[in-house]
Amino acid sequence: MGMKGKLLIIGFGPGSFEHITKRAKEAIEESDVVIGYNTYVDLISGLLTGQKIVRTGMTEEVSRAQEAVRQAEAGKKVAVISSGDAGVYGMAGLVYEVLIEKGWTEATGVEVEVIPGISAINSCSSLLGAPVMHDACTISLSDHLTPWEIIAKRIEAAGAADFVIALYNPRSGRRTRQIVEAQRILLKYRSPDTPVGIVKSAYRDREQVVITTLEQMLDHEIGMLTTVIIGNSATFLYDEKMITPRGYQRKYTLTAEEQALKPHQRLKPEAEPWALPQFEEEAPRAADIRSAVNIQPAAEMRPAAGMRPAAADTQPAAHVHSAASKPSAYELAMEALLLVQGSRGVEVNHSPVTNPLFGQQSIFEVAVSPGVANKRFTPGQMMLMAELAGESGEIEYTPHHQIILRVPTTEPKQITARLQAEGLLLAPIGDVVQLKACDFCNGEKDESIPYAEELYQRLNGRSAPKELRIGFNGCGMTCYGAVKEDIGIVYRRGKFDLFLGAKTVGRNAHSGQPVAEGIEPEELVETVERIVNRYISDGFPNERFHKYFKRVKQVEGFEHREVPVLVIDNAVCGD
Ligand code: SF4
Repeated sequence: MGMKGKLLIIGFGPGSFEHITKRAKEAIEESDVVIGYNTYVDLISGLLTGQKIVRTGMTEEVSRAQEAVRQAEAGKKVAVISSGDAGVYGMAGLVYEVLIEKGWTEATGVEVEVIPGISAINSCSSLLGAPVMHDACTISLSDHLTPWEIIAKRIEAAGAADFVIALYNPRSGRRTRQIVEAQRILLKYRSPDTPVGIVKSAYRDREQVVITTLEQMLDHEIGMLTTVIIGNSATFLYDEKMITPRGYQRKYTLTAEEQALKPHQRLKPEAEPWALPQFEEEAPRAADIRSAVNIQPAAEMRPAAGMRPAAADTQPAAHVHSAASKPSAYELAMEALLLVQGSRGVEVNHSPVTNPLFGQQSIFEVAVSPGVANKRFTPGQMMLMAELAGESGEIEYTPHHQIILRVPTTEPKQITARLQAEGLLLAPIGDVVQLKACDFCNGEKDESIPYAEELYQRLNGRSAPKELRIGFNGCGMTCYGAVKEDIGIVYRRGKFDLFLGAKTVGRNAHSGQPVAEGIEPEELVETVERIVNRYISDGFPNERFHKYFKRVKQVEGFEHREVPVLVIDNAVCGD
């Protein structure tokens, strides 16, 4: 019996040499015969060193696999090449099927090595940003070998389950309806604004990357060399990148240096109310879940204005067990089903048909105040905050006289709408501009309040390189500490004094430098806005305002002066 050959089933990635793995290159080099589709052979031609080449046309995969097996059985080392990954819509499965038909086993037959490559879902995602950061699936729209009915069911299921979806083989010269049908199905489950990335020839010469929306994706070129990546209900666009959050925002404040939850608290059940309980007695009843995510039972559901009819509307009412009786497994299953069906048609976030079960539950954080000058909360406002925080949320009072509300929710818009309806002012927290005014002697010294309010309107909540605090006090008493903020504004004798660059913590803490006295009221807002704009455009990421002011030496005409360094002598008794 002659020497046994070997089958090297190689995925060579998107097509550029930089993205072929080392093992794939070695395998091509060590092979005697290379078998592949014409275009693939051309793509790796730079790696060929005299091997026998067997090229075939596009629909001749079976003859390629058969020829590869024949050559290997004749004692040759045979490279079967696929673009992407050989095990993802590539040649690996077909070669195994041909071998199995011939009674191959690993012990007795030719050796087989499958060499992984970068599949289109990975290469295209890299060009789009980070769209596949969460559960995702690939669906090929080619119905040459798979009945369309099955493909449609898979699209339907992936849409309902909120997977990020990579569509392979989305359209060819003859198959043009499939992508239209896929879009129609997905629009039942996803917002028309859902981000979509269309990538053609990733990492090849004619690479094209388009970012669009689910509604508009068909306006762009989609063909044989294209992969379409459709975001889930949480995918967002930032600076022409598609990003799907993994969920870190649920437990972390990404702009904060210090996290509200300490490392040892993050894995506790109360910090993960969305997780599957590990013990049966911890398991929340479906009704509890329903009330936690504010889903009404199907029987009470009313479709919101402008929404599509929910499939659940046509379902027969499910039996729901009484609270007193212990539910059977069947009852719990039915209740879970009801929950899923009943949740369709609830308006969540920006997506009118997002299923809250699959929506991103985040810990929504917001700074809450009763007004710019008003410092008094009403009992109704306090009660509303307590109700919204519930058992799993938090209300924190900070050293900066701020109340921060943290609420686990899939529906931040509903939370903000209720808080605003109760007359509360809301502001983002983190690296944003924050204006803190005094109470103007409980509103008695009210001449400068309109300027504080206008500054709040124009600047509060704007993103900044680092948290930027503006203090605004209504008289020279500055009892709310305006001069200790990054930008201090003090109203005095009908005009404003301006202080810049305070440093409030550390051994070299100091007040802001007085940079101007007697600014005319009508000039104040624009002056401060210019300073803030300059800092936003020229400050380095994470650079505090006092450091920025010191670095640039002057901002909008206001000069920085070095603060004398205090020399602190050691105490006589030592340290
Ligand atoms: S800073 Fe002046 S106006 Fe503001 S609360 Fe204090 S005393 Fe009143």
